Amino acid sequence: MSAICVYCASGPVAQDYLDLAAEVGTALATAGHTVVSGGGNISMMGALAEAARAAGGSTVGIIPRALMEREVADLGSDELVVTETMRERKRLMDERADGFITLPGGIGTLEELFETWTGGYLGMHSKPVVLLDHLDFYAPLLGWLDDLAARGFVSRRSLDRLLVADSVPKAIEFATAR
Ligand code: AMP
Repeated sequence: MSAICVYCASGPVAQDYLDLAAEVGTALATAGHTVVSGGGNISMMGALAEAARAAGGSTVGIIPRALMEREVADLGSDELVVTETMRERKRLMDERADGFITLPGGIGTLEELFETWTGGYLGMHSKPVVLLDHLDFYAPLLGWLDDLAARGFVSRRSLDRLLVADSVPKAIEFATAR
């Protein structure tokens, strides 16, 4: 069984996205995987963790002390790690995970996606980095990256290091493949 770190939104997004996060939490837990997340109980992060626990799964939340109020620290988490800095949060989230799945999100989510992805193609880790392109949410970004590859700014090899999934089961399959 694996520990999968899920990056997703912390903002006031539509119900469809909360449902998606819950679907991912349920599916991971049902398959026996641990969910590693940013340790907030709001928005998609909250929906993910609550659904995973409701399905009998285990959750690990990692949150900086300064965000405990703003992101509503997930006190129900099986393990809640409070860090002093954002860098430490990211380091621990990365360390604790065997694979990564990025769901729809904002700037924080994108930052986390790019950091784990670049770490992967630079050979700093060999964990699967998966992007769940739910209903073409990331199509504009993927199109732009393709254009950057055509212009020589991004290598095809780097692009191929990102595993793009169009469904929850595929995302979990990719993230848990060893
Ligand atoms: P967002 O996608 O902007 O809604 O943010 C999703 C999550 O990413 C939240 O838990 C944020 O605290 C977190 N986040 C925001 N900025 C950063 C950053 N620079 N590094 C790591 N996580 C971040």
